[in-house]
Amino acid sequence: MKFIGAHVSASGGVESAPINAHGIGANAFALFTKNQRQWVSKPLTETSIELFKENCEKYALDSHYILPHDSYLINLGHPEEEGLLKSRTAFLDEMQRCEQLGLELLNFHPGSHLNKISIEECLNRVADSINFVLSKTNGVTAVIENTAGQGSNVGNEFWQLKHIIDRVEDQSRVGVCLDTCHTYTSGYDLVNEYDKVFEEFDKLVGFNYLKGIHLNDSKKALGSRVDRHDSIGKGLIGLDFFQRFMKDDRFNEMPIVLETPDESLWAEEIKLLRSFE
Ligand SMILES: [Zn+2]
Ligand SMILES: [Zn+2]
Repeated sequence: MKFIGAHVSASGGVESAPINAHGIGANAFALFTKNQRQWVSKPLTETSIELFKENCEKYALDSHYILPHDSYLINLGHPEEEGLLKSRTAFLDEMQRCEQLGLELLNFHPGSHLNKISIEECLNRVADSINFVLSKTNGVTAVIENTAGQGSNVGNEFWQLKHIIDRVEDQSRVGVCLDTCHTYTSGYDLVNEYDKVFEEFDKLVGFNYLKGIHLNDSKKALGSRVDRHDSIGKGLIGLDFFQRFMKDDRFNEMPIVLETPDESLWAEEIKLLRSFE
């Protein structure tokens, strides 16, 4: 079975996210558990936590299919000590928020080398950061998202994801989220080489580590290394890919999250995807 939703708004409190997910006919969703553009946010209140859990239960939204996303400011591979420490502290806070909400996954962009250290050194730092937060938390899996490779972002090639995983001490609590837009613009041809791309992913990383999908079309070309999502079927990836994806059982039983730009289309996009099953 497929679990599909979108990255919904949590404005007014995290408890509004499951309501918003239900409103678009989702059985999965993503959210920010704090303001994604600030380093520090107020702690979650007991009331918010209780209401979040109640609303998830009310709308049958199971924590297996909820994929919270961390703040955009965090760089777990930061080349400098101060930035690295600040990022680790903020990421730990995000993991603890997930723990409080009873969530099992936290999705993050691996990091950026800022042209100051090598890709490998940056990936090693990301792994150390994951070890740091996992040693201080329980029950939440760190889910590394592949990137488009824009600027100095690492994580655009499958081997890089595995390089991080290989250096994580508790491999039962690390996983990967594939973003279809990022996969395509980083140079993997999902349109013409569907089988080959996922075979390569399985060989280099392994489907056993796949914990979620960001399902987006792309405004930018194959290999452009630019991160610009498009609505399903309206971009350069196109409907054939999404039809095939929806029939592919390897993507069952995990959150599939739309981060497509026009929120008013989410309900329709979910219906369209369901029609391909
Ligand atoms: Zn994404
Ligand atoms: Zn993106």
